[in-house]
Amino acid sequence: MIYETNSPEETFDLARRLGEEAQPGTVYTLTGDLGVGKTVFAQGLARGLGIEEAINSPTFTIVQVYDEGRLPFYHFDVYRIGDIEEMEEIGYEDYFYGDGVCLVEWAELIEELLPQKRVALVIEKDLQKGFDYRRITLQEVME
Ligand code: ADP
Ligand code: MG
Repeated sequence: MIYETNSPEETFDLARRLGEEAQPGTVYTLTGDLGVGKTVFAQGLARGLGIEEAINSPTFTIVQVYDEGRLPFYHFDVYRIGDIEEMEEIGYEDYFYGDGVCLVEWAELIEELLPQKRVALVIEKDLQKGFDYRRITLQEVME
């Protein structure tokens, strides 16, 4: 599935609609360059889950937990991960294989830990189509 957006609001809205329909235990992975819109997407997904609280990139922790929505929301940003061991230390399996909804920014950095079943999202720019244009590819993965 390919979506195209032309503003942060459109990306937020797309993610919000996905969040409204998200099922327990779903892991969304997000791949794309710095500043492409991964956190904007995470904010929309959280809103769709009924979370009103502001979502920021979890800079100093690998995962941020939000419990106030329709389902628990686990927001990972593994950009600064030094060693895959850090994922073990936080007990990532409880999140990935639990009943909440996970979203992982920079998922490619922990490829070997990703669950076999997941929803993979890739966000890309195409400057020929404008500065705010984003192509968002969604693929259900079942390894
Ligand atoms: P990332 O988490 O991928 O590093 P952010 O979500 O923090 O990126 O930032 C994305 C930036 O790009 C924001 O400043 C946002 O306003 C801007 N932006 C411009 N157009 C779009 C779009 N179509 N979708 C998402 N973000 C966009
Ligand atoms: Mg981010």
